[in-house]
Amino acid sequence: MTTTSETHTQTPLATAHAQLAAAVRHLGYDDGLHANLATPRREVHVSVPLRMDTGEVRLFHGFRVQHNVSRGPGKGGLRYHPSVDIEEVRALAMWMTWKCAIADLPYGGAKGGVAIDPREHSSSELERVTRRYTSEIMPLIGPDTDIMAPDVGTDEQTMAWVMDTYSVNRGYTIPAVVTGKPVAVGGSLGRNTATSAGLVHVTEAALRTAGEALEGRTVAIQGFGKVGAHAAQIFARRGARIVAVSDVDGAVRADDGIDVPRLTEHVAATGTVAGFDGADPITNADLLRLDVDVLVPAATQGVIDEETAHDVRARIVVEGANGPTTTEGDAVLARNGVVVVPDVLANAGGVVVSYFEWVQANQAYWWTEREIAEKLEHRMVTAYDAVTGLARREELSLRDAALAIGVQRVAEAHKIRGLYP
Ligand code: GLU
Repeated sequence: MTTTSETHTQTPLATAHAQLAAAVRHLGYDDGLHANLATPRREVHVSVPLRMDTGEVRLFHGFRVQHNVSRGPGKGGLRYHPSVDIEEVRALAMWMTWKCAIADLPYGGAKGGVAIDPREHSSSELERVTRRYTSEIMPLIGPDTDIMAPDVGTDEQTMAWVMDTYSVNRGYTIPAVVTGKPVAVGGSLGRNTATSAGLVHVTEAALRTAGEALEGRTVAIQGFGKVGAHAAQIFARRGARIVAVSDVDGAVRADDGIDVPRLTEHVAATGTVAGFDGADPITNADLLRLDVDVLVPAATQGVIDEETAHDVRARIVVEGANGPTTTEGDAVLARNGVVVVPDVLANAGGVVVSYFEWVQANQAYWWTEREIAEKLEHRMVTAYDAVTGLARREELSLRDAALAIGVQRVAEAHKIRGLYP
């Protein structure tokens, strides 16, 4: 996603470090503990040679970072995107640590990625990349050590390949090594819509805090991928008005409300929201500036930087993507009175249902969709209440409060376990 000031945009790792530093200051931790919380426990860089369908061999770079494992095994997605590098993966792994702690899941945080553009490859090339990457990081991952899930550019098919590669090498089927798998091989009902469902729960809670209902509120969504598309559908079903959506190819706007089922059909047929005849074309930059009740950046990191933040007219920003707002952007939004529901809370629904999937796989007993939906809502509202409670008591932004809770829970586990040796 391009913004006019892309070249100046803070890197995800700088954003993540600035957020941690603010939490550490608030909690009064010393430099040793700060360094410990800032530093990944383990990281690996692997080369991933790929035999293309043409027979040519190309070389890609892959990473897996376990940021923290004090509260349990590493947990986090696998990203396929050309911008992936070790620093981006480090930032994303750190955010997973706080996210899992805020949702009170018995996990640490991890993330993986391969610097590849999945849109440029056939399914069989992606299968070979996935299997080779998995076999390269085999010593690190496992159902009790580090559990992968989908992220940008990967999906349930990718997870099935990871699970199969891991299982074939171990000699038996191990479903709990990944989450976000297809239901046919031990995936959980409700996992594919979980991030979006959780995002809508916290949006409703944020509106409730302001004494309002979701019905009739206007929503603009940047990104029509796994998070944005399902969020649009759920918002629309709950009576909110989706006035604009975008993806990498364009953005569309309809002030009377976009017919989301018809837009979904258009995207299924053409692969993009651009060209949808039920709305007017706008730019991605325009979308971020719309005068709406709720703005959902659900595309990528760093899109709301200082410059863009000045133009944001939404009352509430609910972060579907990881790291969409830079530190400077955050400060501007706060000055302008925009409520930001931070990524580590707003998009935690995905990893919450990943946890449910892992629990189900471990006990080999599957829950109903309704049980999952109820448990998800309970977890999201509990996390939201904890964050807003602390924010109110200590006059913090929701991001600072969320980070303080996450960081404190990880530090507490670390202190109780003690330093070895
Ligand atoms: N990739 C998702 C995230 O960033 C889900 C991670 C997971 O389920 O482990 O939260």
